Amino acid sequence: MHHVNLPSKYKKQAPPSSKAAESQLQQASMGVENVFHMTGGDGRTSYARNSSLQKKASDMVKNITLEAIQELYLTTTPKSLGVADLGCSSGPNTLSIIKEIIEAVEGFSIKTFQPSPEFRVHLNDLPSNDFNSIFKALPDFSKDLSDERSNGKSPSIYIGAYPGSFYGRLFPNNTLHFVYSSYSLHWLSRVPPKIYCKEGKSINKGSVYISESSPVGVSQAYLKQFQEDFTLFLKSRSEELTAGGRMVLIFLGRSGPDHVDRGNCFLWQLLSQSIAILVSEGEVEEEKLDSYDVHFYAPSRDEIEHEVRKEGSFELDRFEMFWLDQRHGKNDESYGTSIAMTVRAIQESMIGQHFGEGILDSLFENFGRLVDEEAAKEEIKPITFGIVLRKL
Ligand code: SAH
Repeated sequence: MHHVNLPSKYKKQAPPSSKAAESQLQQASMGVENVFHMTGGDGRTSYARNSSLQKKASDMVKNITLEAIQELYLTTTPKSLGVADLGCSSGPNTLSIIKEIIEAVEGFSIKTFQPSPEFRVHLNDLPSNDFNSIFKALPDFSKDLSDERSNGKSPSIYIGAYPGSFYGRLFPNNTLHFVYSSYSLHWLSRVPPKIYCKEGKSINKGSVYISESSPVGVSQAYLKQFQEDFTLFLKSRSEELTAGGRMVLIFLGRSGPDHVDRGNCFLWQLLSQSIAILVSEGEVEEEKLDSYDVHFYAPSRDEIEHEVRKEGSFELDRFEMFWLDQRHGKNDESYGTSIAMTVRAIQESMIGQHFGEGILDSLFENFGRLVDEEAAKEEIKPITFGIVLRKL
């Protein structure tokens, strides 16, 4: 186990300030879905240009995804196949997995001499997602699919967007056969309210996520929020999926009961430390760091299995664990820079709102440098789970 301790000067208690308490209460009560979004468009810091890590992860799980859809299709052979991608975001990853799924099903139907089904594709993300850029990519997407077919005809595909939170109902009863969700479910519906004390102050001072120095109440609050959210997710999907329907869920996790690991938790610690550097330079008020917490949770296998059993609508068919190695950066980019650009595309809407957008460049520069320094000492290994659930 390895951890980074913040210098103690960053940990001292901030003087009470009604302005800070107000902002903390605001953070606690404001639905994150109003603010949280991946950076849209296709500029330097956009999600579209900084999502190769997520692509690499979904590629590692691709055989599991395609086996799950094959099993589902061959056992149920629906004429109209309902597929959903939850937390689809925008950028090249969104339509590339849909294309893979469609081509795989068409391949199985040719092999088994069946007419290929029509595809109802439901793309979901939070309302502030850049859905327009997906819509603009649709003509090329259809052209690609028909060009690759020997008869030049497009398969029957009906694509719609379903903006809203997947922690709740999104689709009509019994309309889906296959649900896919990659790198989205580690996002909670909100920062756990239990990490705020009565005065509205976070008890997780100096850290943005569970860390070595967090009081035990912090990890308990995060776990409780995960349990509530994941149960609601399973329950909502159980009403939308037909019996025998499958879900392939890919998300960040941890390898055992310890919350503090040299994976996802460690990366958040480095982000806390990067903010602390700005505090020491007088760029950020200390209380701003104290009051910032992410709505993220990396569960363990046991925690997931427990919720699946308790909710009762799904059987866990498969559970795989993956590590991404440190070589996923673009050509000449260092590992730290590519992690920093990835985290920036995901977090800048929230960080910008809380700290002000002026700090983003120096914050992520610090973060990239710290990641490189730490990675040179010992590998940082964020864990990814790939799981398959079958609706009973
Ligand atoms: N699946 C894509 C995007 C992953 S980024 C890929 O693999 O590249 C995570 C996405 O999940 C973001 O677009 C975010 O807006 C979305 N997300 C997070 N919480 C959500 C929620 N409660 N409901 C719907 N989408 C959510």
